[in-house]
Amino acid sequence: MDNLLMYVDGEWKASLSGKTIEFLDPSNQQPLGTIPRGEKVDVDTAVSAARKAFESELWRTIKPHERGYILTEMANKIRFNKDELANLETLDVGKPLSQAYSDVEAAARYFEFYAGAADKIMGETIPIEDGIIDFTVRDPIGVTAHIIPWNYPIQISSRSTAAAIATGNTVVLKTAEDTSLTALKLAEYFHETNLPRGVFNVITGLGHEAGAALSTHPDVNHITFTGSVATGKQIMKSAAENIVPVTLELGGKSPNIVFADCNEEEALNGVVRSIIQNAGQTCSAGSRLLIEDNYKDRFLSLLKEKFKKVTIGPGKDDYDLGPILSKNQFDKVSSFIEKAREEGEVITGGERVNIKGFEDGYYLQPTIIDHISHESDIAQQEIFGPVLSVFPFEDEQKAVELANGTDYGLVTGIWTENIGKAHRIADKVLAGQLFINNYGAGGGIQMPFGGYKRSGFGREKGLIALKNYTQLKNVAIKYK
Ligand code: NAD
Repeated sequence: MDNLLMYVDGEWKASLSGKTIEFLDPSNQQPLGTIPRGEKVDVDTAVSAARKAFESELWRTIKPHERGYILTEMANKIRFNKDELANLETLDVGKPLSQAYSDVEAAARYFEFYAGAADKIMGETIPIEDGIIDFTVRDPIGVTAHIIPWNYPIQISSRSTAAAIATGNTVVLKTAEDTSLTALKLAEYFHETNLPRGVFNVITGLGHEAGAALSTHPDVNHITFTGSVATGKQIMKSAAENIVPVTLELGGKSPNIVFADCNEEEALNGVVRSIIQNAGQTCSAGSRLLIEDNYKDRFLSLLKEKFKKVTIGPGKDDYDLGPILSKNQFDKVSSFIEKAREEGEVITGGERVNIKGFEDGYYLQPTIIDHISHESDIAQQEIFGPVLSVFPFEDEQKAVELANGTDYGLVTGIWTENIGKAHRIADKVLAGQLFINNYGAGGGIQMPFGGYKRSGFGREKGLIALKNYTQLKNVAIKYK
């Protein structure tokens, strides 16, 4: 694969220093190519291009529906190139090809959803007194920064940048250093549209260099960050220095709460899918199983059978479970499994799998951990691998207590045929999205997505995300 370039002010650029970063194929850990190691000076160039574009006559006066056309064109290009994009996403992240296809379709959906919204960004009129008409306008906020993680690159780059462009902002996107391929493809497609130069820019580089330079930049007006809690805290501190709003999509330790009166087959499949998707490297992974205690033995024995049937291998061959992204990530996941062997019991999985021809890839059996304390790190911290921990509960109150018993609050799945019980639980669970008798609702890009507690704040996806990228102006006119 080539040595890639960044996209700044409508041009393809190396970093000013000429430095690069090598990135690897997770299926076998072989080098794939390099990306520019963008630094502060490169970020400065991108932000000033985005500022110039934001203030340009061309972008200020473009009709809202024309922004929509450009985004629709993006959706069409993504669908037209879906085979190439899905294969690139699998190559870059290691995920099974069918999951990469779903991610590509979600990216297309983001562009078409926000394309349709571009000419529906409206204010309201407010009654004041006779002789005065008062109304609000939703102005774009300016130069928006988007810092994204490595696990869902095409989806996450699309969801916030499409909303920001629909509302008339300009964008500087910073990819994660391991996975820039598909975000750079988006730049290629934008380049073929009528989007004025400088409206969409992509910077590649390391978090503490390019990422930090972008999030501390005084000329950035909004930061959308998706990533870990630790980095989220840094971003908030930087934003505080410049009094800039942030939208933070952080991690999770999401539970599936399973009652004995669930639809068993659906609950089993839901629990399996929610932890093996993208090898558990998903912010919304269902990484805790809360199970009604009189049902635990039966459910776990069926679950173990399902786990054993999960196929493992390189993403391009579309096995159920692809490799863990990197050695770093694998070591982190393995250290949790080691801890589980000391503190509790690994009841299935837990071993590295050697795949012929892909011996250097980090493949891991899907793993279930039982008999650990809910206070332990395994129960409390995001593992980011295909590792599920199990905790029994005796009644609804205990189920809610456990569900709410971590610092996170991203997603919760509830499995019961008793809809009254499901509602009682949903009412008390502190999480941004609840799924009753399903987990994820097929990805639904129209649904607001975001966290309670340390899973972050602000919402992405859906129409509500448009608010992140507009600021409200109130105008009062005296006409009498
Ligand atoms: P990370 O926080 O290490 O990195 C995320 C991004 O921030 C990367 O682009 C990185 O280069 C950049 N970055 C790192 N340090 C920075 C700094 N000091 N200043 C500015 N930018 C910096 O996270 P990760 O390991 O890439 O991703 C995994 C995390 O992301 C998990 O916690 C996961 O739950 C979370 N995540 C959340 C969502 C969501 O929508 N809630 C989606 C996907 C992933």
